[in-house]
This record gives sequence, structure tokens and C-alpha cells, in this order.
Amino acid sequence: MLVQESEKILKDYFGYSRFRPLQKEIISAILEGKDVFALMPTGGGKSLCYQVPALMFNGLCVVVSPLIALMKNQVAALAQYNIPAAYLNSTQSNEAQELIENKCFNKEIKLLYVSPEKLTSETFLNFLKIIQVSMFAIDEAHCISAWGHDFRPEYSKLSKIKEFFPTKPMVALTATADTITRQDIINQLQLTDYELFTASFDRPNIRMNVTTGFHRIERIIRFLNSRPNQTGLIYCLTRQETEEMSKKLQEAGFAARCYHAGLNSKERSQVQHGFLNDEVHIVCATVAFGMGIHKNNVRFVIHYNMPRNLESYYQEIGRAGRDQEISDVILFYSFKDVIHWRTLIAESKTNHELDNNQLKMAKLARMQQYAEASICRRRILLNYFGEAVHEDCGNCDVCRKPRSRFDATLLAKKALSACIRLKEAVQMPTLIDVLRGNKTALIAEQGYDEIKTFGSAANVSYPEWKDYLQQMINLGIFDIAYDDNFVLKRGALSAKVLYEDYIVELALPEFDFSRKGDQPRS
Ligand code: ADP
Ligand code: ZN
Repeated sequence: MLVQESEKILKDYFGYSRFRPLQKEIISAILEGKDVFALMPTGGGKSLCYQVPALMFNGLCVVVSPLIALMKNQVAALAQYNIPAAYLNSTQSNEAQELIENKCFNKEIKLLYVSPEKLTSETFLNFLKIIQVSMFAIDEAHCISAWGHDFRPEYSKLSKIKEFFPTKPMVALTATADTITRQDIINQLQLTDYELFTASFDRPNIRMNVTTGFHRIERIIRFLNSRPNQTGLIYCLTRQETEEMSKKLQEAGFAARCYHAGLNSKERSQVQHGFLNDEVHIVCATVAFGMGIHKNNVRFVIHYNMPRNLESYYQEIGRAGRDQEISDVILFYSFKDVIHWRTLIAESKTNHELDNNQLKMAKLARMQQYAEASICRRRILLNYFGEAVHEDCGNCDVCRKPRSRFDATLLAKKALSACIRLKEAVQMPTLIDVLRGNKTALIAEQGYDEIKTFGSAANVSYPEWKDYLQQMINLGIFDIAYDDNFVLKRGALSAKVLYEDYIVELALPEFDFSRKGDQPRS
């Protein structure tokens, strides 16, 4: 009965004929008065899970949302369906806020989006007490947990809601939460008689690729040339990088723009609109771009740098292919990114006891393992989100073209011997210069050109060495001294390589660096 009614609402208001996986189940649980924890990937259709019951209940559904842009978007989308909705946040004047509160009082609004600060103020909670509230929805619920990847202190106070409204159904929604974060959200929101719904995080239409950071810009341009007029995102770490990248792409003839938090709001909305209307094809952005941008035909997401953890990565690539069409995501990985994040985490000081650096380092390590993996990437990613996968996907770069291996024992011996003669005191670039016999100013000054292994492996190119050394670090032949300026030291396996008959097998680089035009190996 209720199910039929909800299907009618889906059709009458939203024009959709069928529920997506879990939507119906979630809606039923809410209608039964239960609390709900819904874990669904981006694009899975979380909003409808509370919008449909909101329309079926008497009274007001209160939705907590972390960003003003998100609230505006949702309210505008609902207006298109003729659903009365509004938002309240601290940027509005008192008069504007009062006007909306009056409308709520007069039952003219069905869904009210509020910022967490607004909702948890005692005055506002008391106001809600005197009007008829039907339910609460907590969007981006992972923001409540310091174990998650986007902790927002304002969210912590949301635990108050249950104290004021112990009997109203509450639904917490998020696209990313590992097991610890999940439990933390449930505890903090005081979800009691709740049901947990977890949709599959698999996005089979997204093809995952990881590649070395070598000659990034040229390779990005080549990639873009192969798919004219498609739209996509390129994520960079810094504002400056987004600007440089969009400039280079414009020079190459692409409709590209940059986007970062340093632009004024007019510039930002220009880029957003241009992108939504397909006038801007490529947005080179910092992570500031994305949340709240609902565009279905994003065909590719490129990461110019490696993100700090798999949650962020998953969320960012999830912006590709919401229309279920085949989309490509490419992560350019270089070890420099790991050093960048490690340094940043080590320098960051936070007051929150749980916002601990050890956890951040552990998450970074998982991200790095993903980037360096030689097993199916989709398995790693889904595994991370607690989904057991028994088969390779056949669709990521590792599955499509597994790298062949070669005997690199001699190279490993040379590298280790040079490392020891350099007193385990240099970083990777210097070690490579020594092995290749490249007499830089630093090398001349330190007299490193006089050691016995100087120039002993000049036939191996710089990028190849980088690739090999990274692999050797993973194998434990070398160690990176994170606490000592990232210099290379002998790893646990080094003695076996040097003094026993241990065979070192490495994967061939993905590119043939010795040939012009760095063609992918076939
Ligand atoms: P999420 O918040 O989980 O990222 P949204 O709620 O924004 O996802 O939904 C993503 C898109 O899917 C929206 O355009 C929405 O209108 C659409 N959508 C949601 N549910 C359905 C459905 N049952 N049938 C068709 N489209 C749907
Ligand atoms: Zn795979």
C-alpha cells in the first residue's frame, strides 16, 4: 500500500517510473518510523530516499547539508518539480530567515535544508518544537566523524537532534564511510532502532587507470585529442597548477577553465554554468570543485596528482559517468605526491583528539598501495569499502594490460651498492643521477662522482629508474626514511639481494622510455 503510494509520488512528482536499488527499501523503513543509515555511491539517488517520504508524511522534513551550494542546488531542483522547499543558513539576512520560518510555521514548505550550525542552535531547535516536523535527513553524514575524510566540527553537535526529537525518524546518508566511520556516525547521531542499507559501490561503467606521472601534460593533451568535445574534470593539487593547466589546454585549443577557492563567486559560477551547459568542456580544478555539481555526462576524470586517500579518490572519480555511460578515469601517480602528503600531514596540528595523523598516514598508505598495485584496481577499491569481490574486473588498466616482468637483480645490486657508498644519505633523484653518471652541481660538490658505481647504469633512463626504485621500495629492497628527509636506505630485503642468490623480478615500465614519443608498450 505504502509502496504503491511511494511509486506514485516517484512518478507524479519526479517523473521516474522505477526506483533505483535500495530506494524503495529505504523509503519503506522511514515510513515505518525507523532510523536509517544509507550508504550509497554518488549518483545512486540518495536524495529521493528522503524526498519521497517527506512528501508522504504530514509536516516538515528537515535536511542538514554541509554546503550552501548543495542546499541551493537541491532547492532549485525541487522547485522544478513543484515541490515547496527552502534553505536556511547564516549568510541570509534575519528578515529572509524569518520569512522562511513563517512559511514553515504555516505549513507552506515540505523540505527545509539547513546548515548544521543553524539547526543546532537552541533557538532554532525550540522553534522546530512548536511546528510539525516529520523527519530529519543528514546529508553527507560522514562529515560528523573525524575518522572520515571530510570532518566538519559543526556536524558534531547534530547529536542534539535525538535529544530534542527522540521519536522522529532520522536518515543519515553518505557516499563514503569505512566501517569505523560508519559506527561513529551511528553512535554520534544516536541512531537506535535503525536499519543499515549499503548499496554496491561498484560503478562498472567507470574504467580505472593509473599511470606514471611522466610527461603528464603532453599525455593529457593526447588523451583529450582522442575524444573531442567530451567533458571532464582534471583535478590538481594547487590553485597555481589548475591555472597553468587550463592555460596550456586553452593554448592547445580546448575549451578549458580553471576552478579553485581563490576565484571570486562570479568567476566560480561562470565556470560552473559553462560546464553544466557544455560550453566549458574541461575544468581544471582543485577539490573545491565537485560537491554539488550535478552533471551527468562527465566522460572523464583525470587526477594530475594522487589524492590523499581512497575516500576522496572514490568520491572524485564518482563524478564521472553518472549517466551510466562508459567513462575513463586516469590517475597520474608519482612518488612526489606521497612525499607531499606525508609532509603536509606531519606538519598539520589539530586540536581534535581523533583527527590523528597516524590515521591519515595509514589512509595515505592505502592510497599509495592502490596506485602502485599490480592487481585489479576495482578489487582494491571495493575491498576498501568493505565489499568482497571474488573476480578481477577485466576493465581496469591492470586487468587489461598486465605488465610483463624481467630479471632486475643486477640493477637492484647496482642501486643498493650506490646507496651504501652514498652512505644512505641521498634522495631518489640523486641516487639516479649517480647511477646514470649525471654530474650535477650537487654531485660535483659532494664528490659523489668519485664513487665506484658512478655511471654504472647509464643505459637505464631516468623515468625507468624512478619506476624501478619505486617498485624496489614496495618490495622492501629499499626503504624511504620518512623521518629523515626522505633519503633512501637499505630495506629489509637488501641483504638477500646483495649477498644471497635472491632474484629480483620487476614489472617492465608501462612506457618504452627509450623510444621517441614514449609509446605505451604493447
Ligand atoms: P546522490 O545524492 O546519491 O549522489 P542524487 O540523489 O543526486 O544522487 O541522484 C542522482 C541522479 O539520479 C539525479 O539526477 C536524480 O534525479 C536521479 N535519480 C534518482 N533516483 C532515480 C530513479 N529512481 N530513477 C531515475 N533517476 C533517478
Ligand atoms: Zn580490474
